[in-house]
Amino acid sequence: MNDRQVEKFYFDYASTTPLDPRVFEAMRPYFMEEFGNASNLYELGHRARQAVEKSLDKIVSVLNCKSEEFIFTGSATESDNLAILGVARANKDSGNKIIISNVEHKGIIAACGALKEEGFEIYELKVKENGLINPEDLKKLLDKETVLVSVTLADNETGTIQPIKELAEVIKKFRQKNNRPLPYFHTDAVQAALYLDLDVEKLGIDLMTLSSHKIYGPKGIAGLYIRKGTDIKPIIFGGGVRNKLRSGTENVPGIIGFAEALGIASKEKDKESERIKKLRDKLQKGILKSIPKVVVNSHPTRRLPNFINVSILDIEGEALLLHLSEKGIYVNTGSACNAEKLEPSHILKALGLPYEYIHGSIRFTLGKSTTEESINYVLKHLPEIVYKLRRISPLNLDIGNKKIISQPRAFIGGKTPHFLRGKI
Ligand code: PLP
Repeated sequence: MNDRQVEKFYFDYASTTPLDPRVFEAMRPYFMEEFGNASNLYELGHRARQAVEKSLDKIVSVLNCKSEEFIFTGSATESDNLAILGVARANKDSGNKIIISNVEHKGIIAACGALKEEGFEIYELKVKENGLINPEDLKKLLDKETVLVSVTLADNETGTIQPIKELAEVIKKFRQKNNRPLPYFHTDAVQAALYLDLDVEKLGIDLMTLSSHKIYGPKGIAGLYIRKGTDIKPIIFGGGVRNKLRSGTENVPGIIGFAEALGIASKEKDKESERIKKLRDKLQKGILKSIPKVVVNSHPTRRLPNFINVSILDIEGEALLLHLSEKGIYVNTGSACNAEKLEPSHILKALGLPYEYIHGSIRFTLGKSTTEESINYVLKHLPEIVYKLRRISPLNLDIGNKKIISQPRAFIGGKTPHFLRGKI
């Protein structure tokens, strides 16, 4: 297969995206002849600075913010860390409570874990069975100790879109009532950036994380929007670039690529969303029609147009992933033993899914190279692979001391028996 064919059957755009050739062209000079350090005063450095500033202009026009309100980082994980650690530490005299949803990215959860050791208390805002947060639940959790709330715009497992504007409204009213600027509101918009409006005023947020490599930009560059007036401390110390919040030599080609990618995404998002959604719906319909015992885990309507997360019962997500890989189809699984972690997805657990649903979960995320041909190819191979795997699956689930052989099939579609809802 040549490179473009690989992309055609690549269904893991939520993990990373290939570089858009237009982005590569924009970056190219800044690797070689325009290699200057943007902090230097001589002409070469000055040109790099100008290029960085121009890129920043592009980004802030998409976000509807000021250029001093956006800083570049090395990854969205770093941006999430800066938002959580930086805001919490800067405001610790005003309170020690942080509220995060239970479908946040690990970058946020782990940063909160570190804050616990510094005396902060972390409260979980739980999604309902449909994957959505109820703003009323946030109302109940807010108090005068709360310094920060963080809720993802759309999570990376199901693509379910959270009611950010409504949550922002709850926070705004709380602030007004108590006449204080806290809590600040952060959202991780990494997965949403290709398809949703990123206007920070419309969203009503104070901090927002973005990542370049999820939007057809280069890896190793990301950013954080920080509303003017937000109290925040750096987590990286050094010579000081942009208000001393993120020291280190700027990644000039990365910044140029990131801005170019975001500009393209913003221009093309409506058309691309419509195209991708049609393909996604065709894939989902095809899967549900050709394979029995499949459950859709993503929200039916409030969902990014490129996401499908399904549980295919009686088989293991990893086995399915490997068999699909043999056909050149790349997907991801929230099941127990994927390449990066030894735990099943906390996001699928947050939905209250029982063990066997998470075990057989598969995430398809579509992208620019997905075509009708890509979908037809999956629909040709997926049902036969599932059929084969089910035939050899004894489904010997060892839960506690109980060995359950083939039993769950009888229960699918009905209520999950209590012995299958064991601790995962
Ligand atoms: N936030 C979300 C929602 C993500 O999906 C990811 C990556 O999967 C990240 C943060 C981390 O991104 P990065 O790879 O840029 O650190």
